[in-house]
Amino acid sequence: MPPEQPQDSRPAGSTVTRVSDLLRAEVGPVDLTTIDTRATPGFGGSKARGKAALEQLSPRLADLQERLYAEGHTGGARRLLLVLQGMDTSGKGGTVSHVVGQVDPQGVTIKSFKAPTNEELAHDFLWRIKAALPGPGMLGVFDRSHYEDVVVVRVRDLVDRRTWSRRYGTINRFEERLVAEGTTVVKCFLHISKEESRARLLRRLDRPDKRWKFNPEDIDMRARWDEFMVAYGDAIERCNTEVAPWYVIPADRKWYRNWAVMNILIEHLQAMKVQWPQPDFDVEEQRQRLLAGD
Ligand code: AMP
Ligand code: MG
Repeated sequence: MPPEQPQDSRPAGSTVTRVSDLLRAEVGPVDLTTIDTRATPGFGGSKARGKAALEQLSPRLADLQERLYAEGHTGGARRLLLVLQGMDTSGKGGTVSHVVGQVDPQGVTIKSFKAPTNEELAHDFLWRIKAALPGPGMLGVFDRSHYEDVVVVRVRDLVDRRTWSRRYGTINRFEERLVAEGTTVVKCFLHISKEESRARLLRRLDRPDKRWKFNPEDIDMRARWDEFMVAYGDAIERCNTEVAPWYVIPADRKWYRNWAVMNILIEHLQAMKVQWPQPDFDVEEQRQRLLAGD
């Protein structure tokens, strides 16, 4: 058990080192096999303290998200898109419920991308993505995304190499445009080990309340784990741009994964410096009107 460090009790937001800086994918080749999935960068405390820290940070995320929503409601164009990628059982759904679940659901849109339907396949790969983008003021979450089209599609040989390899550039141009139009793009790869994934799949089989999530195909995908890590490493390397960076989140410990994504979201929203909108009416005048009436 790592020693507990005093920084864990620091008030929310006073972090000296940003979690975003600690977890930003390095520029250049990304070898995911060298990144420790059980590590807890930036947090020296125990699981209990990690959970407590998450709870402490929640009101801050909720406040920042409400500001963004208010800005969007009063003509602002900005929004935030959180892209969650990761192997099956990596905790994409858990991150949505534990982290994103801390804010007002009215300001959130969540889209999970499955294998494309025939209609989706009839269009280019970004068609369904564009249709699901968050509107002004919204916090949009993608549980899987256009990155499936350079990862699973590659590993399962669903399109030829020429096609998927051209997509990195298409994705970079697409994301660059999103950012230029006011979307903050935050991409998190939830990195779990093959062993931890086996334990989670076994739990799915053991527990009647988890069994519905089990898909026999997941075991076939597991067999290609190494190929997935190469495909993910390449996708992260090729699309780790300044405007839309990738973060690699060690995700074997669920509490750390939640804490890390929470911090990354807060840091990006803080950087947006969203202010409460100024009213377009005279506050004092309205107060007097209210007081003068019944
Ligand atoms: P789940 O996230 O467990 O509901 O599973 C969704 C499945 O859809 C995963 O196996 C994904 O790899 C698959 N999927 C998502 N997007 C694509 C895509 N563009 N092409 C092929 N398979 C996809
Ligand atoms: Mg699944």
